[in-house]
Amino acid sequence: MTQQKRKFGFETRMLHAGHIPDPVTGARAVPIYQTTSYVFEDTDKAAQLFELKQYGNIYTRINNPTNAVFEERIASLENGTGAVATASGMAAQFAVFMTLLEPGDEIVSSSHLYGGTKTQFTHTFKKLGVKAHFVDPTDMQAWERAITPKTRALYGETIGNPRGSVLDIEPLAALAHAHNVPLIVDSTFATPYLCRPLDWGADIVVHSATKFIGGHGSSIAGVLIDSGRFDFSSFPTIAAPDPAYHDLKFYETFGHYGFLMKARTVTVRDTGAALSPFNAFLLIQGLETLSVRMERHVQNAQAIAAFLAQHPKVAWVAYAGLPDNPYHALAQKYTPKGPGAVFTFGIKSDNARQAGKTFIESLHLFSHLANVGDARSLVIHPASTTHQQLSDAELEEAGIDAGMIRLSIGLETTEDLLWDLDQALQLT
Ligand code: PLP
Repeated sequence: MTQQKRKFGFETRMLHAGHIPDPVTGARAVPIYQTTSYVFEDTDKAAQLFELKQYGNIYTRINNPTNAVFEERIASLENGTGAVATASGMAAQFAVFMTLLEPGDEIVSSSHLYGGTKTQFTHTFKKLGVKAHFVDPTDMQAWERAITPKTRALYGETIGNPRGSVLDIEPLAALAHAHNVPLIVDSTFATPYLCRPLDWGADIVVHSATKFIGGHGSSIAGVLIDSGRFDFSSFPTIAAPDPAYHDLKFYETFGHYGFLMKARTVTVRDTGAALSPFNAFLLIQGLETLSVRMERHVQNAQAIAAFLAQHPKVAWVAYAGLPDNPYHALAQKYTPKGPGAVFTFGIKSDNARQAGKTFIESLHLFSHLANVGDARSLVIHPASTTHQQLSDAELEEAGIDAGMIRLSIGLETTEDLLWDLDQALQLT
């Protein structure tokens, strides 16, 4: 087999996809192209670039060589056709929907979502004339019932934040395709190392790259990845002439790359939520060790979930890696290497809210903050922080109870994490 035909393994692509050493300087690491703009060879070349008759760098709000390496690398790891990097995870999902939707359109989404996503879909989308229907992700009939002639996409999280439900991607993709709409999956908690939703039939994947992809809690970032397989030939916003780009027909012009081209050259261009090249560099550093970190994250998470499950002060643990978890079978199918490292549990107490507070304030190694997917272990109380905007009914719909504690398990020595959790539980 020649080198050109060889399909390299996941770890090899983590380190090499999208980049060859710089031919001018020989730099081995990906250089940071900290530039806003790019000198045009001549006016004809500039015009060609602006008309999208030739692809090339124009302005860093649209494209940048460091960002391009990150985009190609993550697209390769997700088995996608291409990717567009954005300033945050929220910006990535917003860019997907602003590319696909028009006022009057609807989406159907799993209700097991990150609280910020729920708020974005409910309130910001409403201002744009888009209606989001939320359904119990485990109820396939509820998904089907919520689909109307105005539905333009289905949406869910591979591993739902924060309850850790696992999305049944395969039948959901079939349902979406039966209605000629794409399935979009937020795979933040899984990362492409644990699950590749495009391999199970999803059409577009989004990530908050802020989490495990960056991996060190240092940069806010997002990315969207397209499989290139969804048939956009009669999808209104991708097939019809686009007045935002002098009536260009993105599908007719770019074929299976039409969605990505529109996302980059119209949506990200116009909303301005571009990734900084410095952050792209940090994400590339993160991707280079993704598999090694994720293996350790899930190993620690599994040990801690098992420890908490038998702890006398713990009422319940919701980690799909535990055999009695309702999502265990789905986790074995979609995330056989482990269902991530973010999960929740409840403390046994007559006053769960107070017990949660005492527990969090007694921890030494776990940092109390609003993030997940750091190399360090993290803890939070969702009802008073990330999901604070939700009403009690919405909290229940999202599967959250008032005493729930969310852990994001890091890479520390397992026994030290067990010690820290145990000493804090004893104080509750
Ligand atoms: N999706 C999930 C599952 C998240 O947990 C988050 C943030 O916590 C987001 C999206 C939003 O990402 P960002 O904070 O990078 O905008």
